[in-house]
Amino acid sequence: MAELTDLSLLEAAGALRAGAISSTELTRACLDRIEAIDGDVSAFLTVTEDLAMAQAEAADQQLRTRSDTPRPFVLGIPIAIKDVLCVEGVPTTCGSKILEGFRPPYTATSVTRLVEAGAVILGMANTDEFAMGSSTENSGYGVSHNPWNLARVPGGSSGGSAAAVAARMCFAALGTDTGGSVRQPAAFCGVSGLKTSYGRVSRYGLIAYGSSLDTVGGMARNVADLAPIFSLMAGHDPLDSTSVADAVPEIHLNGADLSKLRIGVPKEYFIEGLQPEVETAVRAAIEAFREMGAAVREISLPHTDLALPVYYIIAPAEASANLARYDGVRYGPRLGPGLYPEDYFVTRGELFGAEVKRRIMLGTYALSAGYYDAYYGQAQKVRTLIKGDFEAAFQEVDLIACPVTPTTAFGIGAHGDDPLSMYLEDVFTLPANLAGIPGLSFPVGFDSEGLPIGMQFMAPHLGEAQLFSAAHAYQAATSWHTGWPEL
Ligand code: GLN
Repeated sequence: MAELTDLSLLEAAGALRAGAISSTELTRACLDRIEAIDGDVSAFLTVTEDLAMAQAEAADQQLRTRSDTPRPFVLGIPIAIKDVLCVEGVPTTCGSKILEGFRPPYTATSVTRLVEAGAVILGMANTDEFAMGSSTENSGYGVSHNPWNLARVPGGSSGGSAAAVAARMCFAALGTDTGGSVRQPAAFCGVSGLKTSYGRVSRYGLIAYGSSLDTVGGMARNVADLAPIFSLMAGHDPLDSTSVADAVPEIHLNGADLSKLRIGVPKEYFIEGLQPEVETAVRAAIEAFREMGAAVREISLPHTDLALPVYYIIAPAEASANLARYDGVRYGPRLGPGLYPEDYFVTRGELFGAEVKRRIMLGTYALSAGYYDAYYGQAQKVRTLIKGDFEAAFQEVDLIACPVTPTTAFGIGAHGDDPLSMYLEDVFTLPANLAGIPGLSFPVGFDSEGLPIGMQFMAPHLGEAQLFSAAHAYQAATSWHTGWPEL
């Protein structure tokens, strides 16, 4: 029999339901794999072995008792959690030294819903500090490595989650996407990643970065495995006033009628600097949809080039407000001589990393009196134009198809001390966050060095069901998502 960790989530769920394997065995197999390879990959910041084994035993108990209602697919399935989602009693650090030792007194709603359905938590996955970055190089606890090539980054900020899924240390992982942090690492690591619509999944217990942009999403080895994760997490939560009340649609993976599907290909996403192999693979995938019956046409999203400057005003502005609460008094360690306000300055000065400090300064500047209208106010107006681009496009097409990233996974250290060149990694992912719409990243090829290439579909707000059925139809017809790296 193949290794248990080689199974997909749905295969493992099937084996659990049939009684062919137990959650304890499955969880042990994941923990053993983490033990064997995570020294090289560094996907996890914390491995919650005791919690995982206890949850696995509880899941086995449930699996043994007769039930007349269908069991959730995640019952007994080991998953990883990005280290920005609070898990009660488990160190939750946001990849920051300023939260070292912090154990939240409550659990994020997205995590609670999975745990209540029987999911097993293996541990907390590495992230850029406070989810600011595109490579995990900004983590205060070291960089994660891309399982396809350990000298490359896994992407970020949910790089630990993507690496853990790609290296088959878990069956799915939660991530968060404020400007691309689920889709970009999913593309770099050759897994499927969903950015949900703003408001679709509760942000309660997600440690805030940019509150008007933050979304909780997931990654798995294929789109079908992602569906039960989405269905469980989504839906209104009274604890998050921005979570939407709309009913969560049923995800129908099979039987999509692609002849009714209209796909738009935005010309602004095929720009200079796009790695030719990425363009070739994405265009080939779009062609495959045409062959499967979809109508494909070029569209225009004219304000696309403004998304990056707008995002890098709005996200740091919101971050500067959200991160004011880390003062060495309420959470984490306190440094300094024991005096106010010296301790505040010393704690923040020593324990925040360089990128976080840069964003706090940028954001504070953009919000300050005299500059607010010129920067933040202006950015909000342009954000409305970007949203308008999508609304106009979705009058004519159902889905928008484009690359996720300009290049495949870059080398660790490639962006050196040049934050701007790192920001440019996000050009294709930021617009969806500004517009609040969902996006799904899935593998469509490899470059000449064997690194995965991703394509993204975007849909109208709350249009996740359409993303799933289209991407699943592609995965049913292709095999880019079935390979995995040797480790
Ligand atoms: N890379 C982007 C940033 O640094 C997006 C991060 C994210 O989605 N959390 O802000």
